[in-house]
Amino acid sequence: MKNICVLGATGSIGLSTLDVVSLHPEKFRIFAISANTNWELMLKLCETHSPVYAVMTDSAAAEKLSNKAPSETTVLSGHRALNEIAENEQTDFVMAAIVGSAGMASVLAAANSGKRVMLANKESVVLAGSLLINAAKDSGAEIIPVDSEHSAIFQCLQGGMSGLNKVQLTASGGPFLNFSPADLEGVTPEQACKHPNWNMGKKISVDSATMMNKGLEVIEACFLFSLRPSQVEVVIHPQSIIHSLAYFDDGSVMSQLGMPDMRTAISYALSYPDRQNSGVQELDLTKQKPLEFFPPNLESYPCLRLAYEALKEGKNLPGTLNAANEVAVDAFLKGKIGFLGVAKVIEKVLGRVSVSELDSLSVIVENDQTSRQIAKSIVESGI
Ligand code: NAD
Ligand code: MG
Repeated sequence: MKNICVLGATGSIGLSTLDVVSLHPEKFRIFAISANTNWELMLKLCETHSPVYAVMTDSAAAEKLSNKAPSETTVLSGHRALNEIAENEQTDFVMAAIVGSAGMASVLAAANSGKRVMLANKESVVLAGSLLINAAKDSGAEIIPVDSEHSAIFQCLQGGMSGLNKVQLTASGGPFLNFSPADLEGVTPEQACKHPNWNMGKKISVDSATMMNKGLEVIEACFLFSLRPSQVEVVIHPQSIIHSLAYFDDGSVMSQLGMPDMRTAISYALSYPDRQNSGVQELDLTKQKPLEFFPPNLESYPCLRLAYEALKEGKNLPGTLNAANEVAVDAFLKGKIGFLGVAKVIEKVLGRVSVSELDSLSVIVENDQTSRQIAKSIVESGI
């Protein structure tokens, strides 16, 4: 029996994780869950899954939950409590499904304490990739990717890395695939959050529309699989059936296919190296639309171009890219800037921040905060 800690339990990935876990009560038990503010949904999750711990990072929400939570669940409050449940000696597997850099500290806590880290929170890899990989090496933690593209590559590499030439991440192209720059000018947050194939949280939905999601994933792939930027390509595949590809020196190309449903990747992270039922509908290729593939046009997707540039420069720039993106996406969702403003804010922040090495967690956090400040001042001054 494995004890599971789900960080970000009320989100899209968190709820899908609870669904998969519920299919296998003989193998997994929900030990701890966390959320930010949605205490009503957390109350329902506590009643259904009876965790030992429930963390609300928001203290007012924690108080409300603790007044109503079942007696077997201890309610904790604040960000430090995320680390406590992640590194608790009874925790075996940690699902890292908090959105944004708010998830980084708990991912590192899980990696430092030798857990299986089921990694959905790609932002923490972009911010602290080397630190995270080294922490896992030192502690013996396993990092199993949950992002569908990285899960696909991870599955394709089960035979080893020998002769691996490059990987290709597939991208749906998002809801605005065939929009012209003029069409993009006035798109609303509501349109941006309506993804054609996947049902996701708001931040990653906007990232998919700008293709920053793919940019973050390119950086994530370099860290997770020790690849150079030139070894990670992106191909537009609007049907989201092929989840990514690995190219080998002998001409073989391995890929992983499936319905666009995150429960497959979540389930594999839970059952690895075995497989189990995930509840996902079986793929029937004869019933699918034709599968299409196009090279991405970096002019239409400036966020993807900026991510490659930040990755090639390295140092603090991937962290700055991520921080500026989080501020810009939040500003877009609040109607403070337009859709095309997101890339403009990020480009300006990358131009303004001084380039420096990131060699410790405190420097990473400082760079994140400085980059956010710059991004906020650019948003406030209008772009
Ligand atoms: P979501 O917005 O649906 O859920 C986010 C979760 O994080 C919620 O439980 C929320 O309470 C918690 N949270 C938000 N802000 C927080 C904060 N400041 N402190 C603590 N907790 C906080 O997001 P999601 O779509 O489930 O995505 C989660 C992560 O997984 C993201 O990093 C995303 O990029 C990644 N991911 C998601 C998908 C997907 O299909 N949704 C696919 C691949 C990767
Ligand atoms: Mg993905």
